[in-house]
Amino acid sequence: MIMQTSSHYFSKTSLYLKAFSRLLLISCILVFLGINPCTAQNQKIDEEYTKKILEFTTDAHFLTKYVNYLPSAEGVPTPLDVLGHIAGAADVLSYSHEVHKYMRALADASPRVKVFPGGTSEEGREMILVVISDEDTIQNLGKYKEINAKLADPRNISEEEAKRLIREAKPMYWATGAMHSGETGSPEMLMELAYRVAVDESDFIRAIRNNAIIMITPVLEVDGRDKQVDVAMANRKDPDSNLPRRALYWGKYVAHDNNRDNLALSLELSKHIMRTFLEYHPQVMHDLHESGPHLYISTGTGPYNAWLDPIVIDEWHQFAYQEVNDLTRQGVPGVWTHQFYDGWAPNYAFYAANGHNAIGRFYETQGAGDGSTRVVSNRDDRAWYRPNPPLRRTLWSIRNNVNLQQSGLLVGMNYLAANKERFMENFYLKSKRSLAKARTEGPAAYIFPQDDPRPGQVSRLLKLLQWQGVEVHKAEKAFTVKKTEYPKGSYIIRMDQPYSRMADMMLDRQYFNTSDPRPYDDVGWTLGPLYNVNTVRVEDIEVLSVPMSLMKDITVPGGTENLERGSAKAFLINHNADNPLATFVFKHNNLKMHAAAESFKVKDMTFNAGTFIIKTDENSGDLKSVLDEAGKKFGFTAYAVASLPKADILEIDVPRVALVHTWQSTQDEGWVRIALDELEIPYDYISVHDIRDNPRLRDKYDVILFGPARGNALNLVDGLSGDKPIPWKKTELTPNIGCQASTDDMRGGLELEGILHLRDFIKDGGLFLTFAGSSSLPIHFGLAQGISIKDTQDMWARGGVFKAEVVDKTSPIAYGYGKELGVYFNSSPVFSAGRGFDRRFFMMMGGVARGRASGRGGPDDPDIVQARPRDMGQKTIEEFQKSRGAEEEPQRRFGAQPSQSRTILRFAQKVDDLLISGGLANGEELTGAPAVVDCKLGEGHVVMFSINPMWRHETHGSFFLVFNAMMHYKNLDTKKPASKKSS
Ligand SMILES: [Zn+2]
Repeated sequence: MIMQTSSHYFSKTSLYLKAFSRLLLISCILVFLGINPCTAQNQKIDEEYTKKILEFTTDAHFLTKYVNYLPSAEGVPTPLDVLGHIAGAADVLSYSHEVHKYMRALADASPRVKVFPGGTSEEGREMILVVISDEDTIQNLGKYKEINAKLADPRNISEEEAKRLIREAKPMYWATGAMHSGETGSPEMLMELAYRVAVDESDFIRAIRNNAIIMITPVLEVDGRDKQVDVAMANRKDPDSNLPRRALYWGKYVAHDNNRDNLALSLELSKHIMRTFLEYHPQVMHDLHESGPHLYISTGTGPYNAWLDPIVIDEWHQFAYQEVNDLTRQGVPGVWTHQFYDGWAPNYAFYAANGHNAIGRFYETQGAGDGSTRVVSNRDDRAWYRPNPPLRRTLWSIRNNVNLQQSGLLVGMNYLAANKERFMENFYLKSKRSLAKARTEGPAAYIFPQDDPRPGQVSRLLKLLQWQGVEVHKAEKAFTVKKTEYPKGSYIIRMDQPYSRMADMMLDRQYFNTSDPRPYDDVGWTLGPLYNVNTVRVEDIEVLSVPMSLMKDITVPGGTENLERGSAKAFLINHNADNPLATFVFKHNNLKMHAAAESFKVKDMTFNAGTFIIKTDENSGDLKSVLDEAGKKFGFTAYAVASLPKADILEIDVPRVALVHTWQSTQDEGWVRIALDELEIPYDYISVHDIRDNPRLRDKYDVILFGPARGNALNLVDGLSGDKPIPWKKTELTPNIGCQASTDDMRGGLELEGILHLRDFIKDGGLFLTFAGSSSLPIHFGLAQGISIKDTQDMWARGGVFKAEVVDKTSPIAYGYGKELGVYFNSSPVFSAGRGFDRRFFMMMGGVARGRASGRGGPDDPDIVQARPRDMGQKTIEEFQKSRGAEEEPQRRFGAQPSQSRTILRFAQKVDDLLISGGLANGEELTGAPAVVDCKLGEGHVVMFSINPMWRHETHGSFFLVFNAMMHYKNLDTKKPASKKSS
């Protein structure tokens, strides 16, 4: 969003002119009000409130007949009554608790409104759900919820009953606000909308109230809202405060990505959305965002998600065009649809609706920003999908934003109410067609074979499916599909269930044609490979006849077992890269643990390299019962053996971990924190300044993890700039910020001192881990020698799932893994394990980074220098070599270092094998490239991931690469079994 402040606009003359034209506008509209067909004849207007609506609207064309007045209702308070300002008053933003306070006051005064608690955020703030309808409907809300639930799962109703329910039903429209904290207008707007729907007696609003049920979550990201209001209001109250204009942190973990969590449901707000959806089954969910001018209504360019019922997509368009048409008829400029977004990935929050046979929509209204009125410039010209473009330049206010969002929403709500039977029938039809999916379009089911080596990962993925409302079954006996036998206890996800589409979307592969319009976000997400879990897509409907039972709790058995007779010398826990094992190791750091450096057998049982060995003589107390309890909790079996395995043994040292954040953006490392927190891996959360200022990092930490960072190495070194200190801390004016991290001055980055401190840390035996973008740091500054970043400007590999192969099985980083792994990778960096150069640096030195020198012929032709023989000098070499033997002078190359790097995981070597899900063009640039490399420096290591192993909590299968590196930070030099230790 472009924000343009324009001080010259507010010169004295223009202020005078502005006031005059404002007065003119108000009087025109008040006249207009008298004949407004939208107001009810017998209802009084709240004149004070209405006057303020007009005052804060910058121009009449940003008003509509739905919002150019506010009705008055005896005893029912308006936002002005409760909060002292109208919705969309200039220069005011309301805290989440203020918005909730208003909603409760409204519910107390009106029998048409109810407020329900909606859960608690990570920082302990409340989320709420407001429900509005006519009195009778509110009293019988349970009945309408039940009708929706029956139509959502038609397995237990007859066609006749369905028809009756469709007639009786009241469709539900759920509007959600303030998902993105920098987008501030929706909570203000939703208070007014709630009031209007509750009290307005016009035919237009009564149609909504009597025929539909309106649900409102005014603030989804309650933690972020309060931080944003802090910043916006503090800058007003104290102009010297110099706070950043946009809050650095929104929720506890992530910022803008908080609406990309539907494939993980890791955030509290996502859980709230999913739970609420499954409780009410609203037909429409509408998430309110702000960016483009003046009102963009979602449909998108396509390619549309290929797992949705086409009715869903059709309904997106129906609603969008209804609203575009209505507001355009009223003369509102810049209301448009198509473009902006694609409609492909199901990671968005509103896929709680789209993925479950309802529809999910969104608005992008021109931003309300910090609530101030300002001149904005727009560049969205007229186009085939935008015949009524936004104004090139206009004065914009938060009230304009409130007007447009509210008007569009009311049109949508009225449209749903007016066509209630059609939308309820569509809802039922979509549910029925989801049940039929197994037998019509297929597949019939997905199988999770019982013998998967990673039962912990399996159960984690199945739990996620259950949170999505998907039914999980377990086979009661062994069965065969297409000549493959599956053991008893295999899990089956049937595609003849109501939410088969969501499950299929999560487990299927995706193919995105790279010549389609530019995608908005990730293009591939198949969760089986990303969880390192084996899933089998089955077309054969016979699988549905396998005796199976519906699962409630999915647990992984564990405990202790005796593998050998005699007193236990040690306990062995096989390393299968199941994440709960990492929790176990970090939580039980009081136990002395070892790991086998190679695979071994005891009796007939094979233990993988990395198998945890806990010796009885090294650990005091009742080891057996400790391990028994832990095994049950974390889903592993500890096998008691009478003699130590004949394998090389390494010592596990549970490290002191620091996770680094910048002061520029904390979002992407927020996903790292979620992964570490869920698995209870302790860490210190430090900033780049802590590295800059501490020359003795090694005294404090064993592992420093730099999560994915945006920008290049130099941005990380430079950090934020500014003339005076930029604080991020809790004060009286800003009580809600500074809780994740706090500083008096956000300016500056790592600085060169920080680089040197990191170098000393590594040389001194520390492990430095970098993910994706932050890997440019060690490469650029020579901390990771022998690795360069390849220039791949022809490659197209947007966020998706790629096949990687374990190359170096002897490295502890690969312990527990099989031969292959599905990894998340997004475009860059692509590593080269050669003696290459950083292209930008090379270009600076006047080099040609890629391809041949410009000259005659084609790209593969040799260069021909003019006016000299082609083989100039060649004869002399040949004669010399003939006389002296064939030795050649070793080439000295600038920057060439003996390679100290070790590739642990690399991308698949054949381009046809590379892509699991997503899109790929010119994939040759990625084939065989290192995906995880370990570079030695002094006594320590830099382990760099070109993949992102902790992305949006979707990549559980890659987590253990990180945990292995951590717990083996001292053992990373392990290559092949050295001298055998006696056991
Ligand atoms: Zn947004």
